[in-house]
Amino acid sequence: MEDLLQKVTSLCKRRGIIFPNSEIYGGIGGFFDYGPVGVEMKNNLKRYWWKNMVDKREDIVGIDGAIITHPKVWEASGHIENFGDEVVECKKCHQRFRPEDITDKCPNCGNTEFTEPRSYNLLFETEVGVLENSKMKSYLRGEACQTIYLDFKNVVDSTRQQIPFGIAQIGKAFRNEVTPNRLTFRTREFEQWDLQFFVHPLYIQTIWRNGLNIGKRKE
Ligand SMILES: [Zn+2]
Repeated sequence: MEDLLQKVTSLCKRRGIIFPNSEIYGGIGGFFDYGPVGVEMKNNLKRYWWKNMVDKREDIVGIDGAIITHPKVWEASGHIENFGDEVVECKKCHQRFRPEDITDKCPNCGNTEFTEPRSYNLLFETEVGVLENSKMKSYLRGEACQTIYLDFKNVVDSTRQQIPFGIAQIGKAFRNEVTPNRLTFRTREFEQWDLQFFVHPLYIQTIWRNGLNIGKRKE
């Protein structure tokens, strides 16, 4: 499996699909650049998604939210407290793994002894402002969808949308993964394509029954 992934990784590089970021300085774990072919593939998919998800539907609108929000957002969402990742460390080679990534042996050295799982917060910290006494600690968004909720009222007030309707967004999110690996399968910077659909709680049963026809209004 690892061999196959290595083949895919070097193919992606040779063909200009995905490059490791900062490669001339030895690379930086969990960050990748899309090359000339990769960016076209990604943009094609994005355009297709947006066209079908937003442009063709009257009950869905889009936003493009900021990456940094007020830190209270992440307090309220529970991310500061709970956005963690469990990690165990091999007692011999000190490589770190997610518990679900190992069976009984260390994939690196074959040792069978690990530390107890420890929890790490995945939010990327940053500082807003430059003056020492007025800096505010904030976070790069760990999930893109928060801005959809934050902008909900502004969207309602500025468009003709009424529930049921949806808000879509394509945007960057960041997670300080403790064990970034496997090409773009687990990265620290990535893009999320979100659709949040808002309905009145009383209609949930009906919508559940009608499945994908949620957006088709009876009028
Ligand atoms: Zn090991």
